[in-house]
Amino acid sequence: MISVAIDGPSGAGKSSLAKRLAKDLGYVYVDTGAMYRSIGLYAVRAGVDPKDEAAVTALLPQIKLAIRLVDGAQHIYLNGEDVSDAIRAENIGMAASAVSAHPPVRAFLLDTQRGLAADQNILMDGRDIGTVVLPNATVKIFLTASAEARAERRRKELEEKGQPADFATVLADIQQRDYQDTHRAIAPLKQADDAILVDTSDIGFDESFELLKRTILAHI
Ligand code: C5P
Repeated sequence: MISVAIDGPSGAGKSSLAKRLAKDLGYVYVDTGAMYRSIGLYAVRAGVDPKDEAAVTALLPQIKLAIRLVDGAQHIYLNGEDVSDAIRAENIGMAASAVSAHPPVRAFLLDTQRGLAADQNILMDGRDIGTVVLPNATVKIFLTASAEARAERRRKELEEKGQPADFATVLADIQQRDYQDTHRAIAPLKQADDAILVDTSDIGFDESFELLKRTILAHI
């Protein structure tokens, strides 16, 4: 089985690029961030502070996640409800980042993530895929871009969605999430020793896609 691990900070274009690459290569796309977001969403809805490890851990037995392909796109179901859109809210991204620092949450998702890679060719994106989840992945990519480039892309995206936000706020948000993701004690965001670094600060989507595709094909 071929497994491609794509890790990197939020806003580097990982999921849009990973989605298109998976489609192009004929692999199954697994968005692990969506799993952490679903747990974050569940905690927020339950009125639990996502930072409270004991309280979040107590919720885990109530959570059932399923991933299904609908018209080629990954949909995620939280206890049977399709939450693919609900998990994209800004506050849920923050909640995801907080719950993802708790070891029981990571253990809860690890088996599911490894299981998905066991019997199909996959392209999995996240923060710790190359370092923890799939240490023997066929190809590992660390996809990054400067915080400023990521903030500008995010600002534009929000504007296009009719939710204008100022650059400084978006940048501060990205920097806070980067800090949380790189400083947590368990599975922090970091480049695996054998990962290929791809920086998209100065290149657009299509160019990034072509570069990644060439890089992956050269290593499988
Ligand atoms: O990639 P995305 O922004 O959807 O991920 C949401 C949050 O989930 C991230 O900020 C990160 O803290 C966490 N995450 C993680 N490990 C992964 C994927 C996501 O800790 N493999």
